Amino acid sequence: MAAQATEEQVERVAAKLAAFKFDVQRLGGSHPIMLGIASNHKDFDVRHIELLDGVQEVVRTAQSIHLTNRSAKPKGTTVTVKGVVIGGAGVVVMAGPCSVESAEQIDRMARAMKQAGVRVLRGGAFKPRTSPYAFQGLGEEGLKWMRQAADRHGLAVISEVTDVSKIPVMAEYADILQVGARNMQHYDLLKELGKLRKPVLLKRGMAATIEEWLLSAEYLLAGGNHQVMLCERGIRTFETRTRNTLDLGSIPVVQALSHLPVLVDPSHGTGRRDAVLAMSRAAVAAGAHGLLIEVHDDPDHALSDGAQSILPDQLGQLMKECGAIAKVLGKTF
Ligand code: PEP
Ligand code: MN
Repeated sequence: MAAQATEEQVERVAAKLAAFKFDVQRLGGSHPIMLGIASNHKDFDVRHIELLDGVQEVVRTAQSIHLTNRSAKPKGTTVTVKGVVIGGAGVVVMAGPCSVESAEQIDRMARAMKQAGVRVLRGGAFKPRTSPYAFQGLGEEGLKWMRQAADRHGLAVISEVTDVSKIPVMAEYADILQVGARNMQHYDLLKELGKLRKPVLLKRGMAATIEEWLLSAEYLLAGGNHQVMLCERGIRTFETRTRNTLDLGSIPVVQALSHLPVLVDPSHGTGRRDAVLAMSRAAVAAGAHGLLIEVHDDPDHALSDGAQSILPDQLGQLMKECGAIAKVLGKTF
């Protein structure tokens, strides 16, 4: 309200807002008076208010992150998958190959993951590849093999859903549906996943701001799916020595803004096997709720992302070091 606005004018504005069914709050001290409303009514014409006597200015706050906002759930969200709790005071490692390559390979990898202490097996069956000539994934068959391997070794499954038409098959075989960086703003996919009652891990788009990332998560929550996790996987910058620039600064920022668990993928985040261990340690130290790691036992012959896949032995080292860091922070690992 304008500095010289009368009490009568303030009340008229408040009444008008209330008539539009907004929940009005009087903010701050006595002068200047501010009236605050929380709403996701994006197309409300602010001129209805702006032109009333005594109004100084109508300001829209950044964007409408309501359900994703930390204030909606101050204690934080936890997502439970096959007894594995993601979020809260725990650090969870999800690991496995970039792609499912054969029934034997995924079974070998599942066994190695279990041995290392990993509880969630990753592996892509539907692969979003930059080149149409690159390996596109084994599809439903690969997904079945991964489910069988995971069940054999007592692991949960995370795999990427690339399209609305793939949701039923993904929901049948996977415990967590991953939305990849390239699909973070695939809004039709997000809307459909919002109707699902299964955990979704939403990766940050490679050119997405934190605001845009959280708004994509908001789509899932707005649809009624509250089992949502975020995953920082690096963003594209001018740097070329790494595949992406792993923005670990986003972790505390997102955790302040939102109640959703945040994981980190240092494999896509750096694109280099020799950087994965260090960035995993850094991610846990920065407060990540978990890690998503690519592992391959013959990375030179991997069908995708071999250069950034660590060996099972290196995963053992990672589990040891990250576990120690988690302990220092009073977290379970
Ligand atoms: C993946 O996890 O294999 C993947 C394709 O990741 P991103 O979407 O982060 O590129
Ligand atoms: Mn990959």
